[in-house]
This record gives sequence, C-alpha cells and structure tokens, in this order.
Amino acid sequence: YHYEPVEWNALVREVAEQWKGRPTHEIRLHVPGDSLVVRGDPDRLRQLLHNVISNAVKYSPGADRVDLYLEREGDHAVLRVQDYGLGIPEEAKDKMFTKFYRVDNTDRRQIGGTGLGLAICKEIAEAHDGSLRFESEMGAGTTFFLDLPLYREEGVGGSLVILEDDVNLSHLMAEAV
Ligand code: ATP
Ligand code: MG
Repeated sequence: YHYEPVEWNALVREVAEQWKGRPTHEIRLHVPGDSLVVRGDPDRLRQLLHNVISNAVKYSPGADRVDLYLEREGDHAVLRVQDYGLGIPEEAKDKMFTKFYRVDNTDRRQIGGTGLGLAICKEIAEAHDGSLRFESEMGAGTTFFLDLPLYREEGVGGSLVILEDDVNLSHLMAEAV
C-alpha cells in the first residue's frame, strides 16, 4: 500500500463514470459540496469501488440504477452503494466476505464470478483503518457501507482536511509518506 491524501469525491466520481454509456444501469452520484479527503492508496480504493459497484450492477439484473451516497459523519466519510437487486439470503450473510464464497441460489446461477471480490474489498477497507459492511433484503436490494477515516494533517490528532472550492492537495502531497 502506498498512502497519500486522496480527494475522495473525485475518485468516487471517476470510478462511477466508468459505467457511463452502459446500456443497463445508470450510476447516480449523490455527493456533498465539500470535498472529503481520505488517507488512502488510490489504486486500491479504485479497485474496492469497482468491485462493489460492479456487484451492485451484476446482482441487480432487473434494475436500471445504482445510487451512490457520499456523506461526512464526524471524522469519517461514509459511502453507501445501494442497489435494487436480488438481495442476499439470510444464511449467506455471515459468509459474504469469505474468500471464494458465492451465494448458490437459483436466481443467480447464470451470473459469473470467482467469489474473491468482497474478500479483497474488506481487506482493502481494513488496511485503510476503515470498514465495509452491508444491509440487504431478499428481492428488495442491498446497500454496502464503506467507512473511511478522513485525512488528518500532521497525523493522528491533527486537524481534518475538508476542501472547499479550490481543490489543491499539493501541500499535503509533499508531506505524505
Ligand atoms: P468476483 O470475484 O468476480 O467479484 P463474485 O461477485 O461472485 O465474484 P464477491 O464479489 O465476493 O464474488 O461476492 C460474493 C457473493 O455475494 C456473490 O456471488 C453474490 O452472490 C453475492 N453478492 C455480492 N454483492 C451482491 C449484491 N450487491 N447483491 C446481491 N448479492 C451480492
Ligand atoms: Mg464481485
């Protein structure tokens, strides 16, 4: 992992835009005006987002959209990825982050995958001192919650970084290790 201050709104937008122009789902972004900065490895965070959003699309064959909500909660940034798809059965809920686990239900036998995506996502979230969890109801849909600590200048105990209009991270990049 290579950590640096990451402009989280922009990264979420960048990954969401990779779905632009696809025929099935629209990815709708709901982000705050303030720009939230997290301490992260941008490539790993892209990978995590890509995995969670592609699951939301893949496991909601009857739906036409996925909603992304980004919010600040105290010194954390919480991203919700909400789909209106198949949902996750009760008996599968505690195995979802296990490597190679895939839900074996008739409603998703045709949908391919290795069962590694979420195990990797959770590992990435935890390496960032964050967390990944979900709530789901069969037939109604699933919401994944990715919680990441906001970047602090001068490390733990330092002040939070919230950018307003002019986005310029260069002073933070210089100090990051
Ligand atoms: P891949 O390694 O290609 O991501 P995968 O999508 O099967 O394969 P995971 O992303 O780890 O593996 O997901 C594990 C299982 O959890 C999936 O097989 C799927 O049944 C279920 N799942 C994951 N996300 C959702 C979702 N948003 N809605 C419903 N089921 C989901
Ligand atoms: Mg997956």
